[in-house]
Amino acid sequence: MQVGVLGAGQLGRMLALAGYPLGLRFCFLDPAEGSPANALAEQVVAPWDDAQALTRLSECDVVTFEFENVPVETVEMLATRTRVCPSAGALAVARDRLHEKTAFQELGIPTAKFAAVGDEPSLRAALSRIGLPAVLKTRCFGYDGKGQRVLRTATDADEAWRELGGQPLLLEAFVPFSRELSLIAVRGRSGDTRFYPLVENEHREGILHLTRAPARNLDPAQQARAEEHARRLLERLDYVGALALELFDVDGTLHANEIAPRVHNSGHWTIEGAQTSQFENHLRAICGLPLGSASAKGPTAMLNCVGRLPPAARVLAIAGAHLHDYGKLPRARRKVGHVTLCGDSPADLEAKIAEALTLLEE
Ligand code: AMP
Repeated sequence: MQVGVLGAGQLGRMLALAGYPLGLRFCFLDPAEGSPANALAEQVVAPWDDAQALTRLSECDVVTFEFENVPVETVEMLATRTRVCPSAGALAVARDRLHEKTAFQELGIPTAKFAAVGDEPSLRAALSRIGLPAVLKTRCFGYDGKGQRVLRTATDADEAWRELGGQPLLLEAFVPFSRELSLIAVRGRSGDTRFYPLVENEHREGILHLTRAPARNLDPAQQARAEEHARRLLERLDYVGALALELFDVDGTLHANEIAPRVHNSGHWTIEGAQTSQFENHLRAICGLPLGSASAKGPTAMLNCVGRLPPAARVLAIAGAHLHDYGKLPRARRKVGHVTLCGDSPADLEAKIAEALTLLEE
């Protein structure tokens, strides 16, 4: 079976690494040359709407994406020729914050108050309805904290408008969360589902820095609520594949922030830390295979390597550490790899995190 993947970044690379044991073959499409997945499989280097490239991708048995900023038209076009999972409809909801927030609201999933902003009068109207502090975000193409500004004063609002105005925006109430959590959910072609444990995410300068899996002091009732939210989304979107639901924990209540219609950085720990990785389960789902267990093997952490990789020999000297090098050129703010740490106990894991952090920060 051949899997076509739109996007050839590290997520695509890890999909291929998970798919080879299953006998899957891969073909990637990405406009950027020399992408991380390129070392592992055929990569068509062409724009997203290139007719020849899309013909090549449509020869695959199933096509998926590892990047949500692929044009919906590309996915729609491929869907007329081959199976595409998740669907173009699911992508269209997940790549636009207004549609995503509207879906949360319709499904009864708590989320911050929000309003669409198209021009200055609508920004003023949104500010008077939502109040300050608030967050102004681009509806599409935002990632790693890009395309958003926290507004604490009226002056911030003017500045943010000068920076972000001229494109469709969303104003959201600022959520005073105690921690950020995420849930990776997977739904198969026959509607079967698996949910990984909630994980706890720390960001630095808008980029995921550290994931602890499962989240510390995880309340089973909170896990059940998160699964219920994700289940509603999966069913509403008739979703096939892995989906990440990012949540804010506000004194035990979960507020949905956003969804990613793909495997997700906060699920990288599953490669070594769960019975079945998010990458394998995504492939199982889109290929119509039975899903694997999503339970954690033990306390696990994932540390992103941003800008540069730590010294491999010293990281690997930590018991239970695994290093993933994406084969990317080092550059400021670029995710070039990650480290997974498997602990024997929560305390052992914390000691390993502290040790690995010193290497990453040297
Ligand atoms: P996002 O691109 O929506 O995931 O936002 C990036 C980060 O900004 C989140 O991980 C939060 O740390 C922060 N953030 C986003 N939206 C809000 C909000 N409404 N209230 C408070 N913090 C937010």
